[in-house]
Amino acid sequence: MIIQLIPCISPAQEQELNKLLDSLQIKVMKVSAASATYLVAVLKQEIDIRKVGELSGVADVHRLTDPYKLVSHQWKVDPTEIDLGDGVVINRKDFTIMAGPCSIESEAQIEQVVANLVKNNIKIMRGGVYKPRSSPYAFRGLGMNGLKMFYKACHAQGIKIITEVMQVSQIEPMYDYVDIYQVGARNTQNFNLLDALGKTDKPVMIKRGISGTIDELLQSAEYVFSAGNEKILLCERGIRSFEHAYRNTFDINAIPILKEKSHLPVVADASHGIGLRKHVPKIVLAGLAAGADATIVEMHPEPEKALSDGQQTLNFSEFDKLVAKINSIKEILM
Ligand code: PEP
Ligand code: MN
Repeated sequence: MIIQLIPCISPAQEQELNKLLDSLQIKVMKVSAASATYLVAVLKQEIDIRKVGELSGVADVHRLTDPYKLVSHQWKVDPTEIDLGDGVVINRKDFTIMAGPCSIESEAQIEQVVANLVKNNIKIMRGGVYKPRSSPYAFRGLGMNGLKMFYKACHAQGIKIITEVMQVSQIEPMYDYVDIYQVGARNTQNFNLLDALGKTDKPVMIKRGISGTIDELLQSAEYVFSAGNEKILLCERGIRSFEHAYRNTFDINAIPILKEKSHLPVVADASHGIGLRKHVPKIVLAGLAAGADATIVEMHPEPEKALSDGQQTLNFSEFDKLVAKINSIKEILM
């Protein structure tokens, strides 16, 4: 059950509500988000929710059967929009493209990528400065120095930044340089990280876990919302399967299912989804056709020399062709 409180509920009204909930033996969690304050409860028995709805101070009350509550479509019918400021909004009206290298590597690399984004009228750049790598000997990112370089180049061109945060202690130092925090597939169920991101006011994109189910992804998003941050994007990035002909199995089915289950925007990450450069554009288009609100694509001036994920990274001309293709067909597919 979700009880939405009126914006200026009085202490007396809140007391009355708590008394009723106590009498019904309902334990609630109070969630103060930017748009409203909610009381969320997992009901153990049937109750007449009209009793709650009749109380003054209650704006709305909803009974939900989904295990996740605040991110569920059962409660919020309108799709959530993510507003990054300066006119950059992720919503169903357009198919947003976020692109950039897997890893931030140098000032020259950032500047070349930024120039190619500007040329293509793309407003959000991706790039990792904290890299989760399977091998401890692989390139693990430039850290805060890299993020500051990244920010300087993007800020000058009005480009927003999405980058991965790997641990709680990084959230605060990164804050001023980030527009969207990315939670990587290896951290989807790092509940301490999700809780802490729920206390910030910046958008969070959560990737599906490597072997994670759709419901687990939604429950991870619920952690962020229930800690107070409703600015969440869900990202399908492929899951591990028995198939080894490609890096991951991009679960195209997850896109319409996520959109049916949740009001949150869905991002298709075809780069990690298939992991093979020559097929990435087709899978991006498949994501668009399946109903994704946005895509995140790896792009690099010289993918062959990239310090991570070069095998799945588009070069500039491949990227330019993809953008042109998206622009020519998105209206038919959206
Ligand atoms: C990435 O975006 O480069 C990344 C590491 O992704 P994932 O967490 O999906 O593997
Ligand atoms: Mn990558």
